Amino acid sequence: MAVTTSQYESDELAEGTVDAVVIGGGAAGLNGALILARSRRSVVVIDSGSPRNAPAEAVHGLLALDGTPPSEILRRGREQVRQYGGRVVHGQVVAAEPAAPSAEGDLRFTVALADGRNITARRVLVATGLKDVLPEVPGLAEHWGHSVVHCPYCHGWEVRDEPIGVLATGPASIGHAFLFRQLTDDLTYFTHGTDLDEDSRARFAARGIRVIDTPVAEVVDDEDGALAGVRLADGQVVARRVLAVAAPMQARTQGLEGLGLTVQDLPKGRGFASGPAGATEVPGVWVAGNVTDLVAQVGASAAAGALAGADINMMLAIADTDAALHAAGPV
Ligand SMILES: Cc1cc2nc3c(=O)[nH]c(=O)nc-3n(C[C@H](O)[C@H](O)[C@H](O)COP(=O)(O)OP(=O)(O)OC[C@H]3O[C@@H](n4cnc5c(N)ncnc54)[C@H](O)[C@@H]3O)c2cc1C
Repeated sequence: MAVTTSQYESDELAEGTVDAVVIGGGAAGLNGALILARSRRSVVVIDSGSPRNAPAEAVHGLLALDGTPPSEILRRGREQVRQYGGRVVHGQVVAAEPAAPSAEGDLRFTVALADGRNITARRVLVATGLKDVLPEVPGLAEHWGHSVVHCPYCHGWEVRDEPIGVLATGPASIGHAFLFRQLTDDLTYFTHGTDLDEDSRARFAARGIRVIDTPVAEVVDDEDGALAGVRLADGQVVARRVLAVAAPMQARTQGLEGLGLTVQDLPKGRGFASGPAGATEVPGVWVAGNVTDLVAQVGASAAAGALAGADINMMLAIADTDAALHAAGPV
């Protein structure tokens, strides 16, 4: 599910051809843009303003920035990109595709925004993130990012010692349960129609994890609207303050089909295929962050964006030199 943050100040879209367009202005996209802007590349970030962690109060597990609100990290990131001449444009990319190359044979791409504007770029970095696909249990989505959590490293400490329920979505939930058991002694595993083999049941029993096989019908709130538990299909209510859900993750690929990137099945969802530094099999297009690495947290996403930005800069330097050689003519 995507939550839109408050709209921030948008730059004008650049005229002519820019060195790079970055699609997505989360940690990955902004760090890629920062590296490019600091390399004196003209770079435009186009961002629709719904980063994955928008519902969270703070980013955790990120050295030196632990406890900082996600919106504050992104605000600083946009400011830093702009400080070096990069632009950050609020907008939704609805189409992106290769265009005719330059006279010297350098690559070109056109990127179209939902409001009808277009931009041409020499290279593209896709950093559109992913969406978490929550099970369709009434009342669950309302608590996402607060009392319904997915990541023991992001909000595990904050829910330590609480009565936690793992709402299983598949095999990934088994390992998930052991990670949350590290955080609380009071853990219940709701199989919710998924398989749980005998070995795992024995291992759960050894760690004091209660298993309930009756499906979950809905999430129950207390009178203040806080999560109070789940109602099972047989009507029984099991009190819980927190639910952990290993929600399948789907890369945000909508509008990017024209780039021809390969989407692949990964153990925890679907994402764009990529090689070293986020290079793809489509010349001129890189990917970074959750759109290709579903389990990357903020630090890893930012690092991937920086690596991709540096690789793009290197490829542009080679293309610039090829063009200069071409212009110089035979020696
Ligand atoms: C509830 C929750 C809490 C989390 N807490 C933590 C935490 O405490 N610590 C931690 O390290 N990680 C945390 N994470 C993980 C974190 O959200 C990701 O690691 C991080 O957001 C990945 O960055 P990204 O740049 O790849 O994608 P995102 O941050 O999702 O950014 C992608 C951006 O691309 C934009 N976009 C998408 N499609 C388009 C398009 N077509 N056109 C234009 N723009 C587009 C989106 O609007 C968004 O702004 C949490 C995740 C969730 C769900």
